[in-house]
Amino acid sequence: METGPIIPSALMLAEVPAGRIVEHVTVAYPNEACGFLVGFDSPTHRTVTQAIRSDNVWENPSERGYRFAISSTQQMQLERSLVGTGKSLVGFYHSHPDHPALPSEFDREAAWTFYSYLILRVNNGLVQEIKSWVLDHSQQFVEQSVQPLSSVL
Ligand SMILES: [Zn+2]
Repeated sequence: METGPIIPSALMLAEVPAGRIVEHVTVAYPNEACGFLVGFDSPTHRTVTQAIRSDNVWENPSERGYRFAISSTQQMQLERSLVGTGKSLVGFYHSHPDHPALPSEFDREAAWTFYSYLILRVNNGLVQEIKSWVLDHSQQFVEQSVQPLSSVL
């Protein structure tokens, strides 16, 4: 039996980071936008309290409509800044311009276990679907329910 950290089945997305993510992916359209999800875990919920933009550093700018790369420099700086705060990097978000909020094979190959992958479908510049995905032990994505959280933590 393979064991690992227990990944909560629900992602609680607080209002402020949700608004920031929606704004970011809307402005970036028709390019893919991406960023970091910061928060904390309980046995049943993963709570996202903060969303931080990353530049889409995918090498070829003409491919940024369907490819993205998170800045690893920004990721290291972020993780360093979270030490001792009780919060950590719990996932990433990115948009799918004019495509369903389903992870692509490219997304799956680039994904790490533990993290939540929040995908937003942006149709004609409007967010139409938000889904969260986590890898299971066989490296396949399973959906994690996304629930809005209106209270500030
Ligand atoms: Zn994707």
